[in-house]
Amino acid sequence: MPDTPLHAQTAAALSALLDAKKISATELARALLERTRAVEPRVRALNSLDETAVLQQAAASDARRAANAPLSPLDGIPVALKDIIAARDQPLTASSKILANYVSPYDATVTRKLRDAGAVLWGRCNMDEFAMGSSTENSATQTTLNPYDLARVSGGSSGGSAAAVAAGEAPLSLGSDTGGSIRQPAAFCNTVGLKPTYGLVSRHGLAAFASSLDQIGPFARTVADAALLLNTIAGHDGHDSTSLNRPHPDYPAALNDNLPPQKIGIPKEYFGEGLDPEVAAAVEAVAKFYETRGHALREISLPHTKFALSVYYILSTAECSSNLARYDGIRYTSRSPRATDAVDLYAKTRAEGFGPEVKRRVILGTYVLSSGFHDAYYLRAQKVRTLIRNDFINAFKDVDVILTPTSPTPAFKLGEKSANPLAMYLSDIYTIGVNLAGLPALSIPAGFTKSGLPIGAQLIGRPLQEAPLLQTAHAYDLAHHHGLTPPNL
Ligand code: GLN
Repeated sequence: MPDTPLHAQTAAALSALLDAKKISATELARALLERTRAVEPRVRALNSLDETAVLQQAAASDARRAANAPLSPLDGIPVALKDIIAARDQPLTASSKILANYVSPYDATVTRKLRDAGAVLWGRCNMDEFAMGSSTENSATQTTLNPYDLARVSGGSSGGSAAAVAAGEAPLSLGSDTGGSIRQPAAFCNTVGLKPTYGLVSRHGLAAFASSLDQIGPFARTVADAALLLNTIAGHDGHDSTSLNRPHPDYPAALNDNLPPQKIGIPKEYFGEGLDPEVAAAVEAVAKFYETRGHALREISLPHTKFALSVYYILSTAECSSNLARYDGIRYTSRSPRATDAVDLYAKTRAEGFGPEVKRRVILGTYVLSSGFHDAYYLRAQKVRTLIRNDFINAFKDVDVILTPTSPTPAFKLGEKSANPLAMYLSDIYTIGVNLAGLPALSIPAGFTKSGLPIGAQLIGRPLQEAPLLQTAHAYDLAHHHGLTPPNL
């Protein structure tokens, strides 16, 4: 697409331009730095961007390509990281005051894999503090605005990663998804967002929120680009004990395979009360598309869906209360200067360093784990988690893939839900079950509301079946390419 500006091109198209030596990685980096300078004051997707490091990496990529030795299709392609994924010598704030001055001494495994592929590490993307939230309004740094409507949220917690890609600051980014934090902002910002099967992508170097749910995954403007990035970050890692030790297929190559007729399940529990009629209509249109392409639609039931939110807010808070105990002012966090003794140092550091939502979760999580309540809450929630997973396993006996809305509504207005935590929690009602069951799922751009807000459709796959899942999504994406409709910035 020669007339399309570089910032609006897909990673695949940019990779082809680099291969053909029509552009250099340095030219690309400079064009995207300029784009970022132009839109960032309005969008606020990035907590930081190290321009010197960007240009050094781009120059190194150009040297490799000049020697006809690119490391991978991503050599020279910018990839932005959520500010919770470690990159050596770069800040990692998790959008929290408690990590405001922290600089990571090491690379996360995904970061190392990106470096090994020659990708140019871009800015650090804003997020809800420690990935707790659905709008980035819980960030201690700033709120990221929706590039398609600056009066609305970008979603969360990976709102910065979604908005950076949507706004053309970078063609690709990484986020993390514990209960929907990749898919919901992807839906709000007209991008593709994939949460891989639990264990497919290493969590080493991802600051932990809820370890049994967290997964890192890609944002892109097309399914093909998401497949490219997943290919680079997936795979076994000895630094993460939950990393699965088995080979994964070549995801971009799989997209060219013939897609056999799929049985697509539509869970009736996901189309009830609270679903915006325009979102429902868009997802029904996606279903119709598949039907006209010769795939079969089946109504299915996931009967324990109604417990998913409660189970998630017991298990994720329990895990977060334990994971966040390490931010104590002794090791690598900022430290309260007002403390009088050791115990006071812990208390004041945490009281001053954590924001209100993080405190709410730590308190809730400590409560559900405390003696006397542990069995009534934590243990019971673990049992119901198994029922929720079994719902999906049973459904996948009859269908190959499940289609749902990603979020009950399009992007909401700034401030609309921030005073009411329960209303905010409800925006993840369709994404949370997938994390509890450990399944892969992605959100694809499925069109716009009458007022121009993006809508996302979610496709859920069997464990480790990312390849057919991406193939199914790719069929829709190729025919529509909604993700290539840019915002009017
Ligand atoms: N919005 C959900 C929460 O606040 C999910 C967050 C996430 O996936 N990191 O916990």
